[in-house]
This record gives sequence, structure tokens and C-alpha cells, in this order.
Amino acid sequence: MLFSIAEIPTPQEQLKFLKHIQQILQSGTFTSTYKFALLISITRLAIEQGQDTGAVLHLDYQDIAEKFIDLYWKQSLPFQFNQYEPFTIHQSTGKQAKIISEIQKAQQQFETLAALRKDVLYWNRLKRAVATTVKQMPVVYLQNLNGQTIEFLYSLEDSKQSLKLLPKVMYCLRQFSEIIEELCQKRWIDFVRLNKQNLVVLDGLPDLDEFMFAPSRNQLGKVADFLIDVQQCQCFYCGKSLKNSKYAVDHFIPWSLYPADTGHNFVLADEKCNSQKSNYLASEQFLQQWQERNYLHDQSIVREISQLGFLTDLQRSHRVADWAYKQAIENEYLVWLDGKDKHILGV
Ligand SMILES: [Zn+2]
Repeated sequence: MLFSIAEIPTPQEQLKFLKHIQQILQSGTFTSTYKFALLISITRLAIEQGQDTGAVLHLDYQDIAEKFIDLYWKQSLPFQFNQYEPFTIHQSTGKQAKIISEIQKAQQQFETLAALRKDVLYWNRLKRAVATTVKQMPVVYLQNLNGQTIEFLYSLEDSKQSLKLLPKVMYCLRQFSEIIEELCQKRWIDFVRLNKQNLVVLDGLPDLDEFMFAPSRNQLGKVADFLIDVQQCQCFYCGKSLKNSKYAVDHFIPWSLYPADTGHNFVLADEKCNSQKSNYLASEQFLQQWQERNYLHDQSIVREISQLGFLTDLQRSHRVADWAYKQAIENEYLVWLDGKDKHILGV
């Protein structure tokens, strides 16, 4: 990561940036879903590795590859649908996208992403292979708008070793991440739905978006078993005993703000607090409590929750939180205090 002091983009420049994103997503020349994955990946990395300045940001292709594997892992698993045989979504209009085939090969050997990560040799080899495809395909074509190339995210010429985001791009990606995520996911789902090779099984299917993008629920029971010890059987927010009440694993930084699972982001809340907090950020007091919890239990969180297939990286989680609370202050989001009380941060 290299930073230099650089001015943040003007409102006009920010609007122009958004228009370009929209144009990219509207251009009908996509032959695979890689472009969506690339846009989402660089946006998430700008949040995790960047800051709110107009500086350039160098992104390692291996880190981008890791985000691709995260995004495609669940989507590469066979999808069980009604009376049909399990079916793998086609992510390309031609033959299956190469990255999917590579991930599926890994899935034959490793049941979970966690197990795969633990095999360092295999994991690094897969990352390198994915990085090569990312470099050769979507990085080259992302900025093509109907035959014209507009280099507004990065210069291809300068991005041979690492992807070098142009000045002010990191800032815009962080500023507009929720919009970019949502647009990309919607277009990605549309692409999959309209791909003729998927039509047979997916026509009119209601829960495709959930299959493709919703948080994976199947390990959360085990996350809860671990957190109940960490939190001494108390609700993270109100402190009441969880012994005789229903509880749920809550994303401390809401999924709607940052749609990726990371181990340190999970807390256990009783049903009431969980539903009242809903998609809101929690108050600064809870932020502090969460950060302290993470420092105190970092080792066991890393040990236990990464076993269950989640990425666990305290620094990364806290950088995402820094970004989220700064966004909340700048944009006057309501944050949840407790019960039905909410207030505007920073006012
Ligand atoms: Zn509670």
C-alpha cells in the first residue's frame, strides 16, 4: 500500500465517477460475470486497505483473487432446485467460466473454504491461478464502454504488477460502496437469469439472489455455540441472560453496509435486540465494547471461527468498522442505541 497526499474529488468528479460505473454496468457487452466480481472486489479492498483521501491505492492481484474466490465459492456449489438434478450456475455465455472450474476442482478436495485455506500450498496455487485469469480477462475489459475504453479506475499500462487505482478512485469506491455493491449484485443476478444456459432451471426462480449473495447460514449455529461462551451466555447488547431466550448471531457491522462475513464481526444477541438493531449500526458505546471484545478474545476468535470457514482478521474488521462509522457521521445515518431508541451520529 502506498499513499500520497491527494485531494479528495469534487462533487462533480464524484458524480462523473458514479455515471461511469453505471455505464459500465449498463453496457451489454458482458460475456461473463467477472466484471461484477472485479468491481465488488476492488470496492471491498478499498474499504479494507484504503482511507478517505484522494490518494492512489495499489491492490495486490492475489488479494483481488481472494475476493473472487470468496464471491464465487458459494455460487460454484451445485444448486438444488425442485425436481431437477443439482445444477451449477453458468457464469459465462460460452463455456463455463474458468475460475468456476478451478474453484470446483478445489471443492472436490475441500469441503469448506476454511479447509482449503489451511492447505497453504493449494490455496496459494489457486490464488495465483485466479489472479492470472483476473489480470487477463476482467482487468483488461472492465473499462470498455461499448467499444470505447475509458480509463477512469486504473491505467492498464501501470497495472502490470499490481492494480493501481488512479487518484481519487479509492475515495469514490469507499464513498459509493453500498450503491456499487447493490448495482453489481442486481446486474449479476440478471446476467445469470438471462443466460440461456441457466434458463431451464432458473426461469422465474424466486430465491436466486439468496443463493448467490445471502450470508451463509449453515455454520452460524456453531458460531453461536462458540460466542455463548465468550459472552458468558449474555446478550451482547442488553446483557440479559440468553439461557431461556431465543438468540441469533448478529452482524455487528450490518450486512447491508458491508456484505461479507468476517469472524470478528459476529456477536450474539437475544431476539429482541437483534430485531430492534436490524440493519442499523449500533451506538459508539457498543462500538467500543465490540472493539474491546475483539482485542480480548482475538486469539480464540481466530482459532475457533476460522475453523468454521470464515475469514478472521481483526485489523481488517476494525478498518471496515472505521469506514462504516465515518460514513454514518458524514451521511447522518441513524444508529441504534437500545430498545426503540436511535439517534444521528455526530450530531
Ligand atoms: Zn439484548
